[in-house]
Amino acid sequence: MCPRGARLLVGAGGLLAPARLVCHCLLIEGAEGLVLLDTGFGIEDTRTPRQLGLAFTTVVRPRLDAAETAISQIRALGFQPGDVRHVITTHLDLDHAGGLPDFPDAEVHLLGRELEAAMNPGWRERMRYVAAHWAHGPRWVEHGVDGEQWFGFDSVRILPGSDAEILLIPLPGHTFGHTGVAVRRPDGWLLHCGDAYFHHGEVQSPPHSPAGLRAFGAFDQVDRSKRLQNRERLRELAERHSEEVELICSHDPATLPSH
Ligand SMILES: [Zn+2]
Repeated sequence: MCPRGARLLVGAGGLLAPARLVCHCLLIEGAEGLVLLDTGFGIEDTRTPRQLGLAFTTVVRPRLDAAETAISQIRALGFQPGDVRHVITTHLDLDHAGGLPDFPDAEVHLLGRELEAAMNPGWRERMRYVAAHWAHGPRWVEHGVDGEQWFGFDSVRILPGSDAEILLIPLPGHTFGHTGVAVRRPDGWLLHCGDAYFHHGEVQSPPHSPAGLRAFGAFDQVDRSKRLQNRERLRELAERHSEEVELICSHDPATLPSH
């Protein structure tokens, strides 16, 4: 995504120069198939950008290149889209759920609260959720918290029968049912924080981030106090457990740079 205002959004470049923000999607290879975490924009978004809304495409200026969609990148890795058995969404915003129609057979895991919000959007949420992204009738699997804890956060273990250890870590505020996703790796945990924050500096000590991104985060939230509270908890987690947990967020190209 290339919104104008690089200096304010990423802290470098011209005032009106385009910034570069990414949509991190993770592909997890488990013993019984692939798990895709967030889907970014989908093929149909690249063919019919107007379904994303004129305001969004004009301001955010997504580069709708079919080769950059999750399905194209998965094919380029030598897999078939049908190999993706499970999709997990941090939330259903248009820049995270656009690829859902590209994986119609996958189970789609999310917090029940997010599905409820997306199916019954209030006037402020109408622009963020695009009904075309679920017109195909996804195989939703709704999750709720059950008292399990992970580093002091609520957590929900999904795919309990699988060898992949993947937890939903509810982080509401950006949307009502927004969740982080923790993935166990051989050397610790990777926590994909979705849009709980936008710039890596927000979870560093002392916290810092470009002014434009701060303003955007404040504009694009449904519950300010929960968002700020969760962001602070993430900063503490990063400070106390940096050896065991690596945090990334959706849109910051500086985290998880592509090799
Ligand atoms: Zn987003």
